[in-house]
Amino acid sequence: MRLWGRATAVRRRMLFLWLLLLGFALVIVTLSDFFNNRDRLHSPQKPGPPRRPLQQRIPSPPDLEILLDSRDPALELSVDLAPLKSLQEDQLLLFVPLTQQGTKNPPQRKGNYKVLLPGANKDTPAPAPPPTHGEMGKAVRLHLEGKERDVEVSAVEKYGYNEVVSGRISLRRRLPDARHPGCLGEQYSESLPSASVVICFHDESWSTLLRTVHSVLDTAPKRHLQEVLLLDDLSQHGHLKSVLSEYVSHLDGVRLIRSTKRLGVGGCRALGAARAAGEVLVFMDSHCECQKGWLEPLLERVAQDRTRVVSPIMDLIDWQTFQYNATQWPVRGVFDWTLDFYWESDPQLLPDKDPDSAIQPVRSPALGGGVVAIDRHFFQSVGAYDPGMLLWGAEQIELSIRVWSCGGSMEVVPCSRVAHLAHHYQPYLLLDQELLQRNKIRIADTWMDAYRKIFYRRDTLAHFISQSESPNITERLQLKRSLGCRNFHWYLTTVYPQLYIPQDRPGLSGELYNVGTSSCANYPRGQGAQGGAVNVAPCSGTGSQHCDLNSELEVRWGPTGALCLDAKGERVVLSQCPAHHPTTSRLQWKYIKLSGQLVHQQSQLCLEAVKEGRLPLSTQREDNTRTNTGRLLLRPCTHHPRQQWHFEQLVAPKGA
Ligand code: UDP
Ligand code: MN
Repeated sequence: MRLWGRATAVRRRMLFLWLLLLGFALVIVTLSDFFNNRDRLHSPQKPGPPRRPLQQRIPSPPDLEILLDSRDPALELSVDLAPLKSLQEDQLLLFVPLTQQGTKNPPQRKGNYKVLLPGANKDTPAPAPPPTHGEMGKAVRLHLEGKERDVEVSAVEKYGYNEVVSGRISLRRRLPDARHPGCLGEQYSESLPSASVVICFHDESWSTLLRTVHSVLDTAPKRHLQEVLLLDDLSQHGHLKSVLSEYVSHLDGVRLIRSTKRLGVGGCRALGAARAAGEVLVFMDSHCECQKGWLEPLLERVAQDRTRVVSPIMDLIDWQTFQYNATQWPVRGVFDWTLDFYWESDPQLLPDKDPDSAIQPVRSPALGGGVVAIDRHFFQSVGAYDPGMLLWGAEQIELSIRVWSCGGSMEVVPCSRVAHLAHHYQPYLLLDQELLQRNKIRIADTWMDAYRKIFYRRDTLAHFISQSESPNITERLQLKRSLGCRNFHWYLTTVYPQLYIPQDRPGLSGELYNVGTSSCANYPRGQGAQGGAVNVAPCSGTGSQHCDLNSELEVRWGPTGALCLDAKGERVVLSQCPAHHPTTSRLQWKYIKLSGQLVHQQSQLCLEAVKEGRLPLSTQREDNTRTNTGRLLLRPCTHHPRQQWHFEQLVAPKGA
């Protein structure tokens, strides 16, 4: 009994000791936290050792500060944000909203998040930006073959455009006014809806990014501009870290949000939309320059009809010289059967001799991603951007088909002009060639119904990927059903009737294979949509040499099927097909299956492949002798194997 009593006393003493130790530890932790926080809040103002750069906070998870504003509209997730449910708030690392519009001294603490940057004073001049020229020969970190490597690259290789030239041009240059004189007299309502300009960027160069921001601030009237939202989609380049935060903190009306996860174009824009307070979202690429008066005409068209999605005329900034080039009006956005987007300038888009046509918007089957304005609520209710899409590519086509099919419309507004820097090439595609195909597969499977076969025949890589993996599009199909969207047949006949619908009959479409040369009819790259010479070259197997002999006896070529096999004297070329049938006999060909002959109807001559080897040696290219390149000519019909052709279908698409 006494023994038991002593044991209890010892245990009590031990317990007391443990509690004492625990208390002591708690006091230490609290004190150190207090000093740490104090340091964090006050050190920026202190002279002395440089502040810990922001980028050092990013990689180590225990150091993360997840900064959320309890009053942020995105946190009041309402029904209209439904498509964003997959986007977790903890994907956000830094939220640097130092610029409360009109606030000279932003608070150090706001809501329940801490501000990492020093209280910026708008009256002090912005710090000098980092030098931007001389980026030549820098090392960049790339994920190559599953490993991280530092690779020496030139400015053009790093960005896909000539940053060295851009760095020498003022961040606030003025573009020449290319608007039609009729636009200058246009009056816009004073009560236009407010706009949030959402600019996502991933490893953009300093000069192009800041030129974009300054051009918006310099051209958009303050009364219509709610904010400029800059969204950093996990950039790695040093100049986009603390230097950028610091620079932006001196700009009125600009907020910078950083994502801790790479979201891609669509995901990043959807995040921007969730954070935006303006009534109209203006998604803008991070390398644009706005013309005077660009915003008002866009807002007016959206205000008149909230389901209207609009774009300015997109002028071009040359990737090499950074020269500004105005785009020809009328222009509209379209895409082809390989789901590539392009702008089409075509005088026939305008009604005849209407004096107002130079300033009237034109309806557009699709819009590019460079600048697009859309009502914020309509954007959410029509399904934002497809969260299943990868980093980059074709998201503007998905949005276009969806907007039209699910109750909206699209147009280009000519009194609004914004210039966009067209990349020489896409650095993202260096990392993953199949990105684009995977996104296109989602579009084809979600939106194109049976017409998707036409796509898969012209993009065999997409076909093979789709054979081995099926995208999860259940949610998007559900959205399509719940919104009551129309089918692709409706879209083709009502919105984009100018797109030729290939017949792709078995045995009469595919690669046009020549028996005598073991090569395929081919349209060399770089000749454009207007047409040009055709030749024979090694069969590509990619779908790029696909053609279609239709019931009109035309051999339709190219991803739009708008080019027709034609003859100029004995030379065989591609030229624009007529917009309306019946077609002319110059464009008609008869295929004789038994002999494999393709007979030109007007001349009754046969299509023959002529090897380059028969030309004088001086005109030969060295590699042509090994690869079966040759010309296509019209010759009197014989049974020579060089006049024997087969249409070879490469793939049997899903459900075919
Ligand atoms: N972007 C992004 N995350 C990505 C890829 C692109 O935020 O993973 C941004 C990019 O910086 C640009 C916009 O999205 O502002 C569109 O990309 P890009 O200009 O490269 O496409 P393009 O105009 O060539 O189609
Ligand atoms: Mn772009």
